[in-house]
Amino acid sequence: MKSSLVILYHREPYDEVQENGKTVYREKKSPNGIVPTLKTFFANAESSTWVAWKQVSSKQQENFDSRITMEGWSDKAVIRRIPLTADRVKNFYYITAKEAFWPILHSFPEHFTYESSDWENFKHINQLFADAACEEAADDALIWIHDYNLWLTPYYIREKMPNVKIAFFHHTPFPAADVFNILQWREAIIDSLLCCDLCGFHIPRYVENFVSAARSLRDVKILEKSPVPEAFTPYGTALAEPEMTTQLGYNGRVVNVDAFPVGTNPRYLVEKVNTPEVQERVKLIREDIGDNKLIVSAGRVDYVKGASEMLLCYERLLERRPELQGKVNLYMTAVKAAAGMRVYKEAQSQIEQLVGKINGRFSKLDWTPILLFTEPVPYNDLMAFYKTADIAWIPPLRDGLNLVAKEYIAAHEGKNGVLVLSEFTGSAVELPDAVLTNPYSDKKMDETIDQALDMSPEEQEERMAKMYEAITRYDVQQWANHMFREAKAIAPSEEEGKEPALV
Ligand code: UDP
Repeated sequence: MKSSLVILYHREPYDEVQENGKTVYREKKSPNGIVPTLKTFFANAESSTWVAWKQVSSKQQENFDSRITMEGWSDKAVIRRIPLTADRVKNFYYITAKEAFWPILHSFPEHFTYESSDWENFKHINQLFADAACEEAADDALIWIHDYNLWLTPYYIREKMPNVKIAFFHHTPFPAADVFNILQWREAIIDSLLCCDLCGFHIPRYVENFVSAARSLRDVKILEKSPVPEAFTPYGTALAEPEMTTQLGYNGRVVNVDAFPVGTNPRYLVEKVNTPEVQERVKLIREDIGDNKLIVSAGRVDYVKGASEMLLCYERLLERRPELQGKVNLYMTAVKAAAGMRVYKEAQSQIEQLVGKINGRFSKLDWTPILLFTEPVPYNDLMAFYKTADIAWIPPLRDGLNLVAKEYIAAHEGKNGVLVLSEFTGSAVELPDAVLTNPYSDKKMDETIDQALDMSPEEQEERMAKMYEAITRYDVQQWANHMFREAKAIAPSEEEGKEPALV
């Protein structure tokens, strides 16, 4: 049976476990992130396929099972696995994606390098994903593709299946045209995205950036434009946009473009925070730090995340306001990247050096200014840190969205706490009641951390209540519903001739 819904997402929705000498594909149970939400659509479709990659050795490749079902799931929900060797994975995800695409997507051209990239490998893997999708999809299926790792799949799918609906969601920022156009593969990427029926981004600015990049390279017409939806700040902050394009015309095809940011699952997070286990952790952390102000900062090691700017600001804070020494604690997670991602090495050692320097300079026998975790903090502990923290400090220089900001708000159920959030995160456009900061300005960073530390409980509650409303109104379920609603409403495009060949 052909699938009416095909999801292309690099992560598999199961854990592979060995039981009594047999391989069992057990459904991943964590209700966090987008996988569980995508899984509900995957499970509820009449028939569906999820395409993901799987790293295999050449020996494993011989008897590789490319179509599997999860334990306890109907065989109408198929997982289609693309076997990739370690070399291909490294080349694709760790090098081409992270050394060439990532710096451009995040507007860091100084980190961009193309000499190490293997465009042919990238094309090959995208072709494998597209082929698998086409083998599984019904002629009128909806194919939902996720993220820049699969930039070229819309093109390859469209070549074979002119009538399927293709929706693409871009999980990172989309940069301004003059930065995007640094990529020497820019035409191929734009041509492929213009094969979609719906192209989704987190916020209107990314939509507009995509539109201007597309129009700088191809004769693309704007068919429709409207004021941005109410959920987005229309002006006054770095990533605000008053209007957004909603429909493009190119090559006889209509391409719908839209902004719908990924949300969290606030109900789950609130439940989690109120479990005895997390409450006990909260109590222990509080006992540990007494009346001190606790600042939490959670994320991965990545030069886009602004960790050094934050640490330097914290050092200035302890210098500027010596009365805070011994009275404030910074708990920071900077989860180190997978071995092989060489682009993050420098960022990691910079963080470790700064933390060492600040702790060396200010520590007292009974107080350490910064507690740094470089291994992933288990979710329960992270929840307890969020809940206990008086302030969440989120200073990225650039970030597609930032889910930690939304998780912190959920953990406080709109009652108290302060969110200091960089204007250069997608979330900032949805959360004008955060204390918005600019990590490129020492002055603004200093002012905003002072404002957060000195904020009255009344003002905290007022701001948090509004932010809690924003994140509960638009949660991860709404995000997926939005995509499906929009995709269903799209009329099939009239195709005129064949797309030109990809370069
Ligand atoms: N996270 C975690 N453990 C940590 C740090 C982060 O589980 O020690 C989770 C965090 O809860 C969030 C995700 O990692 O759900 C990070 O998402 P975000 O959008 O903030 O940043 P990304 O890593 O996607 O750039």
